[in-house]
Amino acid sequence: MTSNIAFMGGVKSLKDVDVTGKRVLIRVDFNVPMDAHFNISDDRRIRAALPTINYCIDHNACSITLVTHLGRPKGEYEARYSLRHIQKRLERLLQKRVEFIEDFEASKEEIAACSLERVFLLENIRFHKGEKANDPEFARKLAGICDIYVNDAFGTSHRKHASTYGVAEYVGTSVAGFLMMREIEAFAKALENPIRPIALVVGGAKVSTKITLLGSVMPKIDKLIIGGAMSNTFLYALGYEMHASLFEAEFVETAREVLDAARRHGVKVYLPVDVVITDSVEKPVDVKVVPAQDVMEGFSAVDIGPATVKLFSEAIELSNTIIWNGPMGLYEVDRFAKGTYKLATAIADSYAYTIVGGGDTADAVERAGEQEHFSFISTGGGASLELLEGKVLPGFERLDRRA
Ligand code: ADP
Ligand code: MG
Repeated sequence: MTSNIAFMGGVKSLKDVDVTGKRVLIRVDFNVPMDAHFNISDDRRIRAALPTINYCIDHNACSITLVTHLGRPKGEYEARYSLRHIQKRLERLLQKRVEFIEDFEASKEEIAACSLERVFLLENIRFHKGEKANDPEFARKLAGICDIYVNDAFGTSHRKHASTYGVAEYVGTSVAGFLMMREIEAFAKALENPIRPIALVVGGAKVSTKITLLGSVMPKIDKLIIGGAMSNTFLYALGYEMHASLFEAEFVETAREVLDAARRHGVKVYLPVDVVITDSVEKPVDVKVVPAQDVMEGFSAVDIGPATVKLFSEAIELSNTIIWNGPMGLYEVDRFAKGTYKLATAIADSYAYTIVGGGDTADAVERAGEQEHFSFISTGGGASLELLEGKVLPGFERLDRRA
C-alpha cells in the first residue's frame, strides 16, 4: 500500500513541465500576519514562494498570475483584506514590478499578451463566494486565464477551494510548486520510516479545528505532548476548573476520546502539571504559578509552568522525531512567553529530526531565536496535522502525476 505521503510525492512538479511562452497561474499562500497599521509582521510565506515565481520568470513564462487569499473575508470585498497591502513587499522581494488585478476576468486579454514576461497579483480570491464553495463555474473562470496551473500554497493545501483544488480539473497542465515539494520531502523524512519514538507537540488556540484531528494521528506517533489553550480543554475534561482560561467546553467529549484513543494505541500523553495564571490578560497584576488543579476563580491559565517545562523537555529529549504545532501559551505577551520559548529551545537542542509548523508557532520559534536549529520550518499548521492523519491533502489530489 502506498502511503499518503508517497502518493503526494508522486505528483508532477514545475520542473517536469515547460513554461516557456505559457500563461502560468500560481496559487500561493500570502496569508501573512499584519498589525493594525497593515505592516507585514512576518513575510516568510511570501519569501517561501519566491523560488517558484523566479523559476517561471527565468524560464520565460509569458505571464505569471499570483492568486492567494488574505485573512478571512466572507465572500465579498473588505478593504482591510485587500492584497494591495502586500503588493509593495512582493515587488521588493521579487525586485520586479507587480501589476495589480482587481477583476481577473476583465483583465483576461492583458494576462494573455505575451510581449514581455509580466507578474500579476490578483485581488484576494476569497472576495469571491465561489472560492470557498469550490464552485465549478468559478473554478472554470480561473482556469480560463492560464495554460499551466501551479499549486504552491502548502499552508492552504488542506482546503478544497476553487483555487487550491477545483481549478485543476479545468486546466490541461497542473503541477506542484517547489515549496509544496519541499514540504512533502520534509514530512516524508519524519513520517516514512521514521526514527522512533515520534513525539507530536500540540498547543495553540485553534482548539476546535485541531482537536478533532488528534484521535486519528495515534497510529503514527508514540508521544503526545499537549500545552497552550489546547491543554486547557484537556485539563477541563479531566475535571479541573479552568475558570477564565481559554478552552472549549463543547470539545470535552472529543478530548476524552483523544485520551482513550491514545490509551488504545499505547501513546503516552503528557499534560501540564503546573500553569502560569493571571488575573488579567490585558493588564496583568497578579501572576503566579500553580498546580494545574489549582487555577483560581477569576484567573486564566496563559502558559505552562516550570515543572511542566521540565516534564515536556525530558519527554522531548528521549524522542528521535518531533513535530510541533501550537504555542504553549499566550507567547505574544512577553510575560507569558517563557514556556513556549523554553520548549522551542528544548526541541532545538534535541538530536531529533524536528519539524515546526503553523504561523504562530514558527513566529514564536523565530522570536526565541531558534529558527536555525530546527530541521525544517513548515508553512503549514493544519495541513501538517492532516498529513499525520494519513490524508492526501486536496491541494495535491488533482495535480498531474509522474508516469
Ligand atoms: P498556529 O498558528 O501555530 O497554528 P494557533 O493559531 O492554533 O497556532 O494558536 C496560536 C495562538 O494561541 C497564539 O495567538 C497564542 O497566544 C494562543 N494561545 C496559546 N495558548 C494560550 C492560552 N493558554 N491562552 C490564550 N491564548 C493562548
Ligand atoms: Mg495561528
